[in-house]
Amino acid sequence: METITHSGATTLPPRITKTFVDRLTAMVTAGTAGDKRDPYEMIEVYTGAVVGELPQSSPEDVAAAAAKARAAQREWASWPLARRLAVFERMHELILSELETIADLIQIGSGKTRRMSIEESCDPPMVISHYLKHAKRILKPVKRGGAMPIIASSTEHHRPKGVVAVIAPWNFPFAVSMSDSAPALIAGNGVVLKPDNKTALCTLYGVELLRRAGLPDGLVQVVCGAGPDVGPSLIENSDYVMFTGSTATGRTIGELAGRHLIGCSLELGGKNPMIVLDDADLDEVVPSTVFSVYGNSGQACMHIERIYVHERLHDEFVRRFVAASEDLGAKAGASYDYEPEFGSLVSTDHLARVAGHVEDAEAKGATVLTGGKARPDLGPAFYEPTVLTGVTAEMAHATEETFGPVVTIYKFTDEQEAIRQANATTYGLNASVWSRNLARAERLAQRLEAGNININDGFVASFSAKATPSGGIKQSGVGTRHGDDGLLKYTDTIHVGVQKKQVLSARANMPYPKQLKSTLISLRLMRKLRIR
Ligand code: NAD
Repeated sequence: METITHSGATTLPPRITKTFVDRLTAMVTAGTAGDKRDPYEMIEVYTGAVVGELPQSSPEDVAAAAAKARAAQREWASWPLARRLAVFERMHELILSELETIADLIQIGSGKTRRMSIEESCDPPMVISHYLKHAKRILKPVKRGGAMPIIASSTEHHRPKGVVAVIAPWNFPFAVSMSDSAPALIAGNGVVLKPDNKTALCTLYGVELLRRAGLPDGLVQVVCGAGPDVGPSLIENSDYVMFTGSTATGRTIGELAGRHLIGCSLELGGKNPMIVLDDADLDEVVPSTVFSVYGNSGQACMHIERIYVHERLHDEFVRRFVAASEDLGAKAGASYDYEPEFGSLVSTDHLARVAGHVEDAEAKGATVLTGGKARPDLGPAFYEPTVLTGVTAEMAHATEETFGPVVTIYKFTDEQEAIRQANATTYGLNASVWSRNLARAERLAQRLEAGNININDGFVASFSAKATPSGGIKQSGVGTRHGDDGLLKYTDTIHVGVQKKQVLSARANMPYPKQLKSTLISLRLMRKLRIR
């Protein structure tokens, strides 16, 4: 087998051969209408070396992919749920047994650490496991009783929507594409997946595993391309769109979905605050905050970018957190083993954005307590864990999502002021509160404007709990994933009403005032009996 070789700091793991990469990229629907787009050159983030060419789909290819998924969906939806779930039982096991290859592919396109790639790969099994246990209950018809007791009944049924478009970002490319597709498929839909070009390989491998698990041919399609090129056709040819990405793109997706009158779920960006109250236990806060800020090199939608610390703990927190940040920075590296604890950013373009936020803040008077520099010695897109203070409203980092390993620490005296500042953002994805007094933290949590609130944790407590719906509020999203909602959103609710006896027609010959009188008696009786 031909191996991919290149000069640079690292070499690809030997199992990532050219044959393997070509097999994966051949799964992209492209070139069906003859007008071939130029392929996209995929690179290994650690070195910048080219690892293969990714075919690019045209709008016509997207329509063809959706038609294929639609054709396969009819049969898939007719399978009993237990048979569909059996595919996911196998998929769960396949992911666990293929973790190392999945991690290779995630790392190649994203530059994240091995540890984070493995953690990311464990998300779809958690989601699948949840729905293996609960899909039957969630999807089963619910008899609700009709308007009139005994003589009428009413039942809620859930039918798959048809074809679901799943659009995934580069930051958790395997987790998002697989964890959002799994419930759509379990509900009986076909899926057209659009990964980010940079990180398509791991998604393609996930689709290969789905096929190996027994998913019917054609049911999941993959299209690749620049978002504005393929997006409109994707949404035009789908019945629902599940989008994860930036707020700016989410707005465009929402507009397109609105034009076609299809539903959408939008999981968008954040500018997530953490509040450390005066009674918090710094021994717990500091190590957890290192992960909450720097996990995935800060490229996690729920990661913390603003920390508000009570004045009693502020100086000690800063001292310990800066030391921990430097310690983490010393463990940065580009490698396909478990050694490095801090990885690269996804690209040199993204590095420029992150560095730009820090330079802007510094130029306008902020202080860089540690970090603030790229690390070209490690790889082209490495950037140090960075702590800022003195960030003010006119600096980009104060309000915009930096999406990198950069955090600002603010001191507060008054709890009300901390809440006001934490909420002073257009985003509402995640917020965190730390206190030894859980009742106090829960009271404060009630006042935070975020779709996910983590007490004594940064974001893992809420994100890993798959039974509870999770999503953003304000400009951080529309809809939720996980929980019952995360499955039901991929279905149409069909209401079937049954009238066992046409009692109203029996009154048809009555004068209307008499009919009205009997209607009023019925309505009062129904209220007394708590019917309706
Ligand atoms: P992005 O919006 O640039 O791209 C996301 C995906 O949308 C990519 O596949 C991209 O190609 C595609 N796309 C872009 N324009 C499109 C269009 N017009 N039509 C259809 N598809 C289009 O976001 P990104 O930079 O890849 O990801 C980072 C962002 O994602 C951050 O803002 C982060 O907070 C957010 N995110 C949110 C969550 C969440 O669950 N809330 C999870 C992960 C990432």
